[in-house]
Amino acid sequence: MSDTHFDVAIIGSGPAGYTASIYTSRAKLKTIIISGSLPGGQLMTTTEVENFPGFPKGITGPELMMNMQQQSERFGTRIVIDEVTRVDFKNRPFKIFTGSAEYTAESVLISTGASPRKLGLKSESDFSGKGVSYCATCDGPFFRDQEIVVVGGGDTALEEATFLTKFGKTVKIVHRRNELRASKILQERAFENPKIEFIWNSTVVNIEGTGKVASVTIKDINTGAETTLNAGGLFVAIGHEPNTTIFKDQLDLDERGYVVLNNITRTNIDGVFAAGDVHDHRYRQAITAAGFGCMAALDIEKWLSEARGKQ
Ligand code: FAD
Ligand code: NAP
Repeated sequence: MSDTHFDVAIIGSGPAGYTASIYTSRAKLKTIIISGSLPGGQLMTTTEVENFPGFPKGITGPELMMNMQQQSERFGTRIVIDEVTRVDFKNRPFKIFTGSAEYTAESVLISTGASPRKLGLKSESDFSGKGVSYCATCDGPFFRDQEIVVVGGGDTALEEATFLTKFGKTVKIVHRRNELRASKILQERAFENPKIEFIWNSTVVNIEGTGKVASVTIKDINTGAETTLNAGGLFVAIGHEPNTTIFKDQLDLDERGYVVLNNITRTNIDGVFAAGDVHDHRYRQAITAAGFGCMAALDIEKWLSEARGKQ
């Protein structure tokens, strides 16, 4: 088998991709992971992971992902730090292109996960990296003793806000409804934290500053009244979009862009499978992504042996 041809090509290196690779490499299938621009996936952007079984005292996201990478490499997975720019699933072997290389594979697992959703304001992109952030773990320490605004009402917003209280003077959570989507335990922690204040029924309409963020203007969606909050940092934590742009002409996607699965882990293309947040908009957890990765790997093993049996 050539150096660029694989039994299994896995696109994406989050919990789904690494788990799948542990299974396929251990089953002696020649496996490549193409990592994408966020090797290790979304958990690389968080601190403590307390709900991944096996770590009674918790583990940091980066440490958990490093462990998965090492476990995968132990069984011989080739890991390439690169971004897939194009795929050709029309014929087998499937073709996968990055900016500088081309790979072929008998089977493909798509585990490209999801990316942070944007507010869509011009000022948001103007101040991105200058006070507007999508990752509290990465950028929190830059906002020591400053006033911080977090947008969103889900687990990420509350977890990030709680983490940011380690650094910020105050943390205001701006949410568009008067009810949170986040799990009860994270809600309780946030409500009990004296540094966190909630601003309900409000959206961010502008971000102001000279060179870096100095204030954030919010609008009450019921009254239309606008208020300007002093803020050195704005953390946008409003969910994620599936990373499926490169597959849109090749695979069945739903109206939100998530991969549609036909038979548990199978896509509409025979030999192309998907696992994790790229198809799962319901559970979106590290353990479920890992579980889907395991299921896909077992399905791939079976599919490859059946396909080879027919040849
Ligand atoms: P992801 O982790 O999203 O990984 C996707 C991978 O695909 C990345 O490696 C990316 O680089 C790659 N990729 C994307 N596009 C391409 C491309 N074109 N070419 C090649 N590769 C590509 N879950 C929990 O269970 N517990 C927690 O405590 C927890 N905390 C979280 C905290 C935060 C801040 C966030 C954002 C999420 C958290 N989650 C948590 C959710 C969890 O991180 C996700 O459910 C999980 O990471 C999904 O795994 P995945 O493998 O499907 O995809
Ligand atoms: P999410 O659950 O989809 O929540 C997104 C939040 O942002 C919602 O409150 C939503 O408001 C709001 N929102 C969406 N678009 C908006 C916009 N344009 N303007 C203003 N607000 C907007 O996303 P998430 O919090 O990132 O969580 C994603 C998944 O990861 C979840 O399954 C979660 O359980 C998991 N996760 C788990 C943990 C943990 O277990 N410790 C930590 C983090 C994440 P509405 O509520 O009004 O829709």
